[in-house]
Amino acid sequence: MIQISDKRQCCGCEACMNACPNGCITMRADKEGFLYPEIEKQRCMDCGLCERVCPVIQVSADIPFEQNAYVVQIKDEKIRRESTSGGSFSAIAEYVLSRNGIVFGASYDRNFKVLHTKAESRSEMSKFRNSKYVQSDTGTTFRQVQQSLEEGRWVCYSGTPCQIEGLKAFLRKEYEKLITVDVVCRAVPSPLVWGKYVEMQKEKFGSDISNIMFRDKYYGYKYSTMTVKDRTGKSVYAFGIDTDPMLRAFFSNICDRPSCYDCKFKKRYRVSDFTIWDCYPVYDFDKALDDDKGTTRVLVHTEKGNTVFNEIRENLRYTVVSPDKLTKGFREMFESVEENAERTAFFADASRMSGKALFNKYYPETLKVKLERTVRIFCYHTGIYSVVKRTAKRILKR
Ligand SMILES: Cc1cc2nc3c(=O)[nH]c(=O)nc-3n(C[C@H](O)[C@H](O)[C@H](O)COP(=O)(O)OP(=O)(O)OC[C@H]3O[C@@H](n4cnc5c(N)ncnc54)[C@H](O)[C@@H]3O)c2cc1C
Ligand code: SF4
Ligand code: SF4
Ligand code: SF4
Repeated sequence: MIQISDKRQCCGCEACMNACPNGCITMRADKEGFLYPEIEKQRCMDCGLCERVCPVIQVSADIPFEQNAYVVQIKDEKIRRESTSGGSFSAIAEYVLSRNGIVFGASYDRNFKVLHTKAESRSEMSKFRNSKYVQSDTGTTFRQVQQSLEEGRWVCYSGTPCQIEGLKAFLRKEYEKLITVDVVCRAVPSPLVWGKYVEMQKEKFGSDISNIMFRDKYYGYKYSTMTVKDRTGKSVYAFGIDTDPMLRAFFSNICDRPSCYDCKFKKRYRVSDFTIWDCYPVYDFDKALDDDKGTTRVLVHTEKGNTVFNEIRENLRYTVVSPDKLTKGFREMFESVEENAERTAFFADASRMSGKALFNKYYPETLKVKLERTVRIFCYHTGIYSVVKRTAKRILKR
């Protein structure tokens, strides 16, 4: 039976809870807001299934095989605008929807809690677009996937690499009609901290908020922003990674799940069909695609992935690249983030402070922050942002 003695050894994928034949595993949030399995020991039959499906215990090896690589933009500009980068996920999901299939991904509920849900139509599927940098609760979706596959339906499941390994371990057999998409995953912040952020924004903008986008292209793709939209869809707040406190918390590794500091899934050769992630230096791959509207790097791991890509390519602008070049030096793919030294203090404060007080204490809007934001926006409006960024990168490389 699963026993969590070291929190770094549980990624919270929920495969064990979905697999237990006796229903004796419940996922419970700890004081940091992350879910862990809790076992009703009296009812446990000691069958060992929970351990056999745990991707942290049964982690897949990083053994080289042939891959194909692309940088990609979906041709539908509305979808690309709504997506995190180039909209590759929507293009892959379309393959399944057009076969009357089901798509699973991370979405918000009405209180902006992040959780995995399903969609069976194009309009419903739009809720998955745009990354939510918070751990998503997969709930019973692994069981729902299994049931749909057993009924003979096509399924596309997207998530973090640990969620995809958890799903595959849970299924314990290959299904021809399952397409899996994982992201290159830096880490996942705490749902409790995210709740504090939502509370702070609701205090400011009332309960009129219709959407919160972690990766809006308000100032363009290369300076993506956290945007809050009102009921009419208008952006009432748009702050970038240098000024928005939730993005600053994410990129300073202060509130991530413990397993993310010792991630077992940082690798190039994966169990998914596709791995997708950002492509900021588009000019290194194809200058013609460098339009600051979003481009995705896509790594295809399987024959099934190749078949899907061949079918969807007419909906894409893309360039074929070398898998080595696509992945080379991409730290988030290969290395865990380093835990912020203030993490313990941050969570102690998070449990007793309001969202506003918490973020003001750790991520205040100082003069330096305001100045940095003004300079970035100025560079954007004058069209020199990309040039400045590229020059700075070259200087730092020397
Ligand atoms: C937690 C997280 C960390 C990431 N870290 C990096 C990184 O360090 N570097 C990098 O280059 N790219 C990272 N990405 C990937 C990047 O943000 C985009 O997902 C990627 O560029 C694909 O964009 P797209 O336009 O093709 O898809 P989109 O249309 O934006 O689709 C997003 C997909 O991600 C899934 N998703 C969204 N939020 C979550 C979540 N919380 N948990 C699980 N799945 C989710 C959705 O189900 C959907 O399938 C990360 C993504 C996530 C979710
Ligand atoms: S050992 Fe079997 S019965 Fe016990 S918790 Fe694990 S899966 Fe459930
Ligand atoms: S990693 Fe997943 S399967 Fe393993 S114990 Fe944690 S929730 Fe259960
Ligand atoms: S960093 Fe690793 S453990 Fe954390 S969510 Fe991503 S894949 Fe899972």
